[in-house]
Amino acid sequence: MTKPDIMTFGCRLNTYESEVMRGHAAGLENVIIVNTCAVTGEAERQARQAIRRAHRERPEARIVVTGCAAQIDPDRWGALPGVVRVVGNEDKLRAESWTASALGSGDAVSDIMAARETVPQLVTEFAGRTRAFVQVQQGCDHRCTFCIIPFGRGPSRSVPVGAVVEQVRTLLAGGYREIVLTGVDITSWGSDLPGEPRLGQLCRRLLALVPDLERLRLSSVDPVEIDEDIWRLLESEPRFMPYLHLSLQAGSDMILKRMKRRHLTSDARDVILRARGLRSDIGIGADVIAGFPTEDDGLFSETLDFVTEMRLPYLHVFPYSVRPGTPAARMPAVPVAERKRRAACLRQAGDVAARGYYETLVGREMDVLMETSVSGHSETFAPVRLPEGGVAEAGRIVRMRAVSADAGGLTAERV
Ligand code: SF4
Repeated sequence: MTKPDIMTFGCRLNTYESEVMRGHAAGLENVIIVNTCAVTGEAERQARQAIRRAHRERPEARIVVTGCAAQIDPDRWGALPGVVRVVGNEDKLRAESWTASALGSGDAVSDIMAARETVPQLVTEFAGRTRAFVQVQQGCDHRCTFCIIPFGRGPSRSVPVGAVVEQVRTLLAGGYREIVLTGVDITSWGSDLPGEPRLGQLCRRLLALVPDLERLRLSSVDPVEIDEDIWRLLESEPRFMPYLHLSLQAGSDMILKRMKRRHLTSDARDVILRARGLRSDIGIGADVIAGFPTEDDGLFSETLDFVTEMRLPYLHVFPYSVRPGTPAARMPAVPVAERKRRAACLRQAGDVAARGYYETLVGREMDVLMETSVSGHSETFAPVRLPEGGVAEAGRIVRMRAVSADAGGLTAERV
C-alpha cells in the first residue's frame, strides 16, 4: 500500500496542515496531495510544475490539490492533468474530506470568507523535523495591498488556549523539544476570543501550563502588534526564545503607506532597538519585498539604508510578485529585472549583517537544538555546526560555546 505523498509549498502553517492531512489521508492508496501556496507567482508555478511531473511519473496516481492557490482559483487547478479533486483550505482539515468515497465526489471548496472558527486539530509528528510548528491562528483581517492571502485563508480566527496546550503536550510527548507558534497573522491571536486576550498572554499561559516545554519560539510578528507580555517574556523568561522575525516588508515610509502596512520605519526601529536593549544577543529577522510598484531608486535606497542601518541577520527578501486581484497589481510596476537586482542588493546587505551578528556571538555559550548529528540552531536561531569529526544526537539540546564564525553561521564546541 503506497501512503499518500504530500508536496507542501509555502509557509509553516501549510507545513502544519500537511501533517494534519497526512493523518487524515493515511488510508488512501495511490494519492498525491499538493498543498499549494499563493504568496508569489513563483510558488504557484512550482506547484503546477510539480503536478505535471507527478502525473508524468505516476499516471495512475490520483492528485488532490489544496492550499491557498487552490482555494482562490479551484477551477484552474482542477483542470491540471491528473487532478481528481480540489479541496479548500478549511475542507482539507476535515477527516471526512479524505475518505475513499470523498475522493470520487468532486471538489470540496467551501466559502473561506464565511469561516468563523478554526477546525480542531491534533498533530502527533512532523516528518523529518526536530522542532514542531503549532497553529494558534488562522486567516487575516488586514488588507495589505500586495497580498492575496486573506482570500485564501479567510478572516482571522484563533485556536483556543486549551487546544493549543493539548497540541503542545502531544508534541512534547512525541519527543519534540522546541515549539514554534504559527499562523497567518499570529499577533491578532485572541481578537475573536472572549476578553480579547493577546498573543503574549497565550505564551505566558502555555509556559505556565506546560512546564516541560523547554523552548517556545514565535514565527513572524507584526512590528506594531507586539504586546507587553511578549516584551516581558523576552526580557526574563529563558524558555521564550530571544528571537523576533518581523513582517517588515519595506524600509520606506512612502512604500509602507502604499502597502497599507500598520507600521512606519520609526515603529520598526523602536521595536528593534527595544529588543536589543532587552537582549543584546537577540536574533532578529525580517521579511522584505523588493520592487513594490511605484518604488523608484530613491524609495528603494530608503529600504536598503534602513536594512543596512538595522543590521538584520535573518533577512528574507522577496522580489515583488504581482497577485491578480490585489490593489498593488493595478499600480505602476517596476520591471522584473530591476526587482531582482534590488532583491540581490538587499540579500547582500543581509549577508553582511548575518556575518557581523555571528561574529558577536563568538565566545558565548548557547543551547543548541541539534537538527542533525553535526548541526542545529541556538536559542537566537544562529546556525551552529560542530567542528570536524564532532557528533551529537539529533533532537537533543546541547550546551556549547561558539569558537568561530563565518557567513554560514557558527562553529561551536560542547562545554
Ligand atoms: S497581514 Fe498583510 S501580508 Fe500578512 S497575511 Fe494579512 S494581508 Fe497578507
